[in-house]
Amino acid sequence: MRKTELQSIEQKLILQRSAILNKNIDFMHNRKDFSLFSKADEAEIANHDIEVSMTYQIQERDRELIMKIDKALSKMSHGSFGECESCGAEITTGRLNARPFAELCIECQEEQEEGKGFPI
Ligand SMILES: [Zn+2]
Repeated sequence: MRKTELQSIEQKLILQRSAILNKNIDFMHNRKDFSLFSKADEAEIANHDIEVSMTYQIQERDRELIMKIDKALSKMSHGSFGECESCGAEITTGRLNARPFAELCIECQEEQEEGKGFPI
């Protein structure tokens, strides 16, 4: 992979990471507003609970995403980004652009999906 391509993926990951963090900071601010509704009727409170738990699930997912981004970024700093974790082959740039967190080359990915019967 060319250095410029690597840098553009790195930039994308850093931007994605800060977008996730900003979104979650927004959530914390919004959450403060919920206290204003503390005297609202029960139905309304129930709705807020649903919203909070939905947002919480997004946060769980975001946490996983941030871990994946951090892993990809640390691979970049170690120079091992884009290597298949199974066979060590270089993962194609097209694949990495589409899926920057890909840990396996297409061959290994397909082999694993066929063998174990579940996608990663
Ligand atoms: Zn492989």
